Amino acid sequence: MDMLNFRSDTQTLPTEEMLDAMRHAELGDDVFGEDPTVNKLQDMAARMLGKEAALLVISGTMGNLVSLMTHADGLGGEVIVDSEAHVFYYEGGGMCSIAGWTPMPVRSHAGMLDPDEVAAAIRKPDVHYPTARLLCLENTHNRSGGRVVPLDLHKRLCAVAHERGLAVHLDGARIFNAAIAAGVSAADYAADCDSVQFCLSKSLSCPLGSVIVGTRDFIERAKFHRKRVGGGMRQAGVIAAAGIVALTKMIDRLADDHANAKLLARGASDIPGLSVDMASVETNMVNIDHTGTGLSTDEVVDKLKAAGVLVSPRPPRAIRMVTSRHTGRAEVEEAVARMRSALG
Ligand SMILES: *Cc1c(COP(=O)(O)O)cnc(C)c1O
Repeated sequence: MDMLNFRSDTQTLPTEEMLDAMRHAELGDDVFGEDPTVNKLQDMAARMLGKEAALLVISGTMGNLVSLMTHADGLGGEVIVDSEAHVFYYEGGGMCSIAGWTPMPVRSHAGMLDPDEVAAAIRKPDVHYPTARLLCLENTHNRSGGRVVPLDLHKRLCAVAHERGLAVHLDGARIFNAAIAAGVSAADYAADCDSVQFCLSKSLSCPLGSVIVGTRDFIERAKFHRKRVGGGMRQAGVIAAAGIVALTKMIDRLADDHANAKLLARGASDIPGLSVDMASVETNMVNIDHTGTGLSTDEVVDKLKAAGVLVSPRPPRAIRMVTSRHTGRAEVEEAVARMRSALG
């Protein structure tokens, strides 16, 4: 039986068109700034996000790290960050140990930071305190199940930071999912941010790569920090070629992933023992509460795997399923049928 893989949108494979583009890409040494395909991708990304310049990096984690190193600029200070944010929760503490920031965690509510709570976390300068200099945002919000931070809330959060002299970094790993779900452009979200990183390697189907955008000055300085952490790449046009296909061909179809996630959520919530908060399904992720089955998270994951459905554990109460171009309507319907018989 072929496995239906709903573990993550990071598992998407490059399209045939991407592989062709990679094979035929015009290449040069990108550390010298001479890879025309990288330069084309970076220009395209900067234009789409409405920023002056862009920089290709290896991963989303490197995109956040290099952005945070650039904002720290050797000074560090305090970064206001959601305790549920990827950059705080899943990135090995690089913001502290490598970039030199002291985190001031503020907990989000279903992916939403509260502007008043963020304002309260920004302490007045005092000889006792690290100086608050940066706010980190995330959209879509991964740990809440791909929730979309609405543009008006996003703008209020940016304003709170800027009024107090803090810069804003947006971890927009899935910024195009957010923009499509919110009915705005990625540039609308980027407008109030000093830096944004987004991933090419998730639903956009590239084999690897993320992009940082910001002012020309910020990106020049980011280039130095990327090199310091070993991210200076040579004929990186092979990566950028796939990225160009991603930005031209793979964004509009994200709406299909969102529709299929809703279909999956409705199907799963009809299965005895499973429940889904339908309001939480805004993009391509579905967090499914399994406590009604009486099974542990690992037991549910194993049972579904035996039935040919791969899901991610979100212990102790839930599993996560993510739709992608490899799991269309037919695969979703088949997965729901397999889940029903596995857990019934
Ligand atoms: C996946 C992800 C990242 C990191 O990307 P990698 O390419 O896996 O390093 C950063 N932030 C968020 C919100 C993500 O979902």
